[in-house]
Amino acid sequence: MYYIQKESWDNMVLNQKEGWIEVITGPMFAGKTEELLRRIKRLEYAKKNIVVFKPLIDNRYADSDVVSHNNNKTKSVNINTSEEIFLHIDKETDVVAIDEVQFLDNKTPKVIDHLASLGKRVIVSGLDMDFRGEPFSFMPMLLSMAEYVTKLSAVCVECGTPATRTQRIINGRPARYLDPIVLIGASESYEARCRKCHRVHRKPKLYKGKI
Ligand code: ADP
Ligand code: MG
Ligand code: ZN
Repeated sequence: MYYIQKESWDNMVLNQKEGWIEVITGPMFAGKTEELLRRIKRLEYAKKNIVVFKPLIDNRYADSDVVSHNNNKTKSVNINTSEEIFLHIDKETDVVAIDEVQFLDNKTPKVIDHLASLGKRVIVSGLDMDFRGEPFSFMPMLLSMAEYVTKLSAVCVECGTPATRTQRIINGRPARYLDPIVLIGASESYEARCRKCHRVHRKPKLYKGKI
């Protein structure tokens, strides 16, 4: 099933006539960046004019590369705001790709929608949920605007089933619901986990005791 879907992406690449939005989503370690890079590579072989972007906030691996956890990479333009994209593309640009799109500002869905309307193929990858297991900022909006959504899963490090969530660990323990997004001086890490193994300390339970 997945294989057939990949084939149809690759065929669309070669017959592009109008714009659309593709979103690659899921938790950390699901292979979102890998899949983005795979699509980009195909487009390069097809001699498409492609510009790859990354929010400046994501400084995990390199300054001007999009890098996956298994160290594939491609050159990228670092941006602070979504509207900066307009400064780096022109009429000749066929494809706009963005990794870690969830870290951009709230104007992002509008910018992306405009690009697709101009006839660009826009491929973005990003987290659908934050460490609390709640929708990540404007991602729900982007997912509903997209023509194509690929939701990937990782492997739960606790039980080995498909992981749909990102577990945040602070100083060796699951993060608390109200822990700030940026923590100075704490040791912090992330894991892929399924719904059952995902822990958020002190997450409000709205319907506790109902059934
Ligand atoms: P994403 O962009 O979704 O965070 P990447 O494309 O950067 O993911 O990395 C995916 C790679 O992460 C996998 O190919 C694998 O090598 C590695 N990996 C590490 N931990 C896990 C896990 N728990 N489940 C799946 N892949 C994992
Ligand atoms: Mg990634
Ligand atoms: Zn699990």
